[in-house]
Amino acid sequence: MSDPAAAPQPPAAEKKVNPKQAEKEARKAARLAEEKAKADEKAALLAQYADTFGTAELIQSLTYNSKTYITVPALSAALVDQTVLVRARVSTTRKKGKMAFMVLRDEHDSVQAMAAVDEKVPKEMIDFIGQVPCESIVEVQAHVCGTAQPITSTTHADIELKIEKIHVVSESQRTLPFTLEDATRREDEEGVKVNFDTRLATRWLDMRTPASNAIFRMQSRVCQYFRQYLIDNDFCEIHTPKIISAASEGGANVFKLGYFGRDAYLAQSPQLYKQMALQGDIPRVFEVGSVFRAENSNTHRHLTEFVGLDVEMRISEHYYEVLDVAEGLFNYMFEHLATHTKELEDICRQYPFEPLVWKIPEEKIRELGVGVISDRVEPTDQYKGRVHNLESRMLRLYYPDCIDLLNTVLTEKMSHVDDINTTNEKLLGKLVKERYGVDFFISDRFPSSVRPFYTMSCKDDERFTNSYDMFIRGEEISSGAQRIHVPELLLERAKSLQVDLTPCKDYVDAFRLGAWPHGGFGVGMERVVMLYLGLGNVRLVSMFPRDPQRVTP
Ligand code: ATP
Ligand code: MG
Repeated sequence: MSDPAAAPQPPAAEKKVNPKQAEKEARKAARLAEEKAKADEKAALLAQYADTFGTAELIQSLTYNSKTYITVPALSAALVDQTVLVRARVSTTRKKGKMAFMVLRDEHDSVQAMAAVDEKVPKEMIDFIGQVPCESIVEVQAHVCGTAQPITSTTHADIELKIEKIHVVSESQRTLPFTLEDATRREDEEGVKVNFDTRLATRWLDMRTPASNAIFRMQSRVCQYFRQYLIDNDFCEIHTPKIISAASEGGANVFKLGYFGRDAYLAQSPQLYKQMALQGDIPRVFEVGSVFRAENSNTHRHLTEFVGLDVEMRISEHYYEVLDVAEGLFNYMFEHLATHTKELEDICRQYPFEPLVWKIPEEKIRELGVGVISDRVEPTDQYKGRVHNLESRMLRLYYPDCIDLLNTVLTEKMSHVDDINTTNEKLLGKLVKERYGVDFFISDRFPSSVRPFYTMSCKDDERFTNSYDMFIRGEEISSGAQRIHVPELLLERAKSLQVDLTPCKDYVDAFRLGAWPHGGFGVGMERVVMLYLGLGNVRLVSMFPRDPQRVTP
């Protein structure tokens, strides 16, 4: 077969050339050639400067420990006159004549970096620095200089970096969904504010604001101190399943999923499993884990997925043994959280809040006649306020006494067994604060009608239970109780509450082989962070919140 490319071509048709058109095309070609020559020249020039500025080589594990980096927070005046290598984020950049300035930032800290044209710094480098998009990650080799006058716009006021080399490791898009300055503004401040949904849609940018960043550091601390206290007090961390075969608390509000041809559910809490774990002879257990609630609650304090901090332990005689642990735990957590002043300041600057008061002032104890449980001092306080010990001084109030306190201001009086709704819970928090001076309190002896089937009743009055809630600033952070460890009693209680325990047969059976009397509590991690910090929305403290409207990002 013949090669079609080699086939003789028909002669091209003669074209009439328009001299004007030809001239125009020639000019265009010349212009393009000139532009290309300029670009080539610039590229050649930049190639010559590649070691000094430009795009960094892709970090791809080619070298290992070949350079020594220092972070922005680790910089200090002790390094003046030394050359350092810093990888950081660009906060701002600006060119001013033959000089360029940048603010480099990492975590809490920032430092000014600058370059000026001289024998080592070409004009092109100044142009380059001036156009690096904000939020890019750069690598800078610089000489550390002291400053004649403190630089007030950066956290490192006494030093400045004189840039010798600068390379962009990762360039940011030039247009940001919002500026950090706008996202940092307080609600009551003048200026543009960023819609919260917009912030959540690019949470990784939002988290660069000081408050948001600090919130997640505080969240980590909450979990750290929770674990630490419990481990120090002989608790054992456990991991219970999140995929379960039946709705854990015998009710609705569970997410159903397909499980190899049958139905399974996402656990609403580790409740039943932590109780079963105790029957395996681990005397004290705790868990930090995700829990799921299919509640269509579009409120400031409900998520569909949150982190449960759960505790369960043997008791010898009384559910106060559990409350004593809970008090010790929260006292420890609050005391340690208060030491993180830098984070607290960053949060408070954007979301002003009053520090949490969890100890009743000593004079109030005397003045009101608050009882001291450990010394068996009976309260003379009219609402029977009690504290466990004079060290942590955390307030305990019986549920009926909370109702009495509420009734002092409610026009429509409540009975001792009525459920306290969210509005009245807030009001109760306010009344408690006014009377006892505290933002934290425990309410115990909840009515049976508002507690789950596995809650142990009070011996003296079956209308009430050996159960409790803990509140911060008038909102629930935790619920707990003594549990029923007698299978027959459990079945009887479930029946009277019309809870079908057939799907929870294993749970009931777990108490048939000898069961330890026990109790415990569950805490909402996000609630603790939110309320400790006096924030008004649980989504602020959940990194990628899940609620009925949101499953992304
Ligand atoms: P609430 O009355 O506030 O809806 P609850 O009594 O239904 O809470 P519990 O079953 O007692 O909640 O759960 C234990 C703890 O878990 C609560 O005290 C709270 O701190 C937290 N919690 C419960 N539901 C949610 C939720 N939807 N989102 C975030 N935290 C929650
Ligand atoms: Mg509760």
